Amino acid sequence: TKTTQEIQSIDNTHHLHPFTVHHELREAGPRVITRGEGVYLWDSDGNKILDGMAGLWCVQLGYGEQELVDAATDAMKTLSYYNTFFQTTTPHATRLSQLIAEKTPDGLDQIMFGCSGSESNDTAIKLIWYYWNLQGKPEKKAIISRERAYHGSTVAGASLSGLPFMQGIFDLPLPRFHHVGPTPHYYEYGNSDESEREFGLRCAKAIEDKILELGPENVAAFAGEPVMGAGGLMLPPEGYWQEVERICRKYDVLLWSDEVICGFGRTGEWFGCQTYGYTPDIMTMAKGISSGYQPLSAVAINKRMSDAIVNADSEMAHGYTYSGHPVVCAVAVRNLELITEKKLVGERGQATSEYFLKQLSLLDDHPLIGQTRGVGLLGGIELVKDKTTRERFSPDGTAGVTCRNHCFKSGIIMRAVGDTMFLCPPLVITNDEIDELFRLVRISLDLTLEELKP
Ligand code: PMP
Repeated sequence: TKTTQEIQSIDNTHHLHPFTVHHELREAGPRVITRGEGVYLWDSDGNKILDGMAGLWCVQLGYGEQELVDAATDAMKTLSYYNTFFQTTTPHATRLSQLIAEKTPDGLDQIMFGCSGSESNDTAIKLIWYYWNLQGKPEKKAIISRERAYHGSTVAGASLSGLPFMQGIFDLPLPRFHHVGPTPHYYEYGNSDESEREFGLRCAKAIEDKILELGPENVAAFAGEPVMGAGGLMLPPEGYWQEVERICRKYDVLLWSDEVICGFGRTGEWFGCQTYGYTPDIMTMAKGISSGYQPLSAVAINKRMSDAIVNADSEMAHGYTYSGHPVVCAVAVRNLELITEKKLVGERGQATSEYFLKQLSLLDDHPLIGQTRGVGLLGGIELVKDKTTRERFSPDGTAGVTCRNHCFKSGIIMRAVGDTMFLCPPLVITNDEIDELFRLVRISLDLTLEELKP
């Protein structure tokens, strides 16, 4: 086995990392993660780390779940690969499509597979455009999403995202992608003279205005994450999604829920749209679908869309070699069964969430914290210099990076985007582990305050 320094040196020479300033990484040396069990990870120096981010929002069942290992091993032995192109399927892909359809809201019963969240979003765009073509409305192509949305890193995923730092340098977004603000996040964008509900209606109205500006006959879909994740963990204002749904119906614009983070128990129900009480026409999902054990994603469409597609004489010219991979689907089937058996969507999930959100809110007294917010097992922490004025340490992001580094040193992973810290522990976390998590968060916050205070 190689030493940490040897691994780091090889990594520095050969490995390009996503979203990374490489010369900074080289100075520090990447931390080498070697093992995981339950909610804990270990690095190559033997340090134990509590994963407060469940990898990248995906490891619902925790690390090292033997049942998922067995499901993968069995499937690999019997059928290591086959595709679902043309006239074939596998029992694994078929069973998984049925299981997902049982969990989605009524009517979203047809499932198409891919390997990543970004890929599923690309697939959704094509399904939407194909659908409108079949309806004899090929001009309905514009897709509206929101400022600060994150929908992936492919060319289409980055176009759909509302994050300019991912776009300008690549000449994105592609034509037909439109972003509206304000981002539905009352804490940051709400006016002091409006209630949260009024603010939510104002955000929805901005979508309606954009539809009218583009002409409803040109607008194919509106895409949104139930809870905006990577852009800053922003919870939708009360009533917002109902109004967005009403507007989409009014102008015959398809409603698309990007459930890549929220899906599979993260917000308490199977899907975020169920937590917030709206019914989309199309959903995309990934991450928690296989608890991160295998790369897998899916798109679900409702009967309106599937009837058109299933009855079409043409084929939709789209598909990936690994769509519905039998090993991946076998893991996902067992994963969904285990989420059900362990009542992680249901009684246990609800109790864990209540305890987690209570402990999260107890951080509010900390001098660095402007706001804590959460739903299910998602938590956001806003770091500020001044609690009352909400002034931040400058430049923006200083407190976030400092806190993230202290977390890592203290033995917990939290992610920072700007000055917002994210928590997203595995759904299997116990109350004792939640206590440990917040003990480590508090230590990290105290160290951050010490470093930043004048
Ligand atoms: N949609 C959302 C809402 C996401 O959060 C992400 C990833 N964070 C994606 C899509 C892209 O998924 P992937 O990284 O698997 O391509």
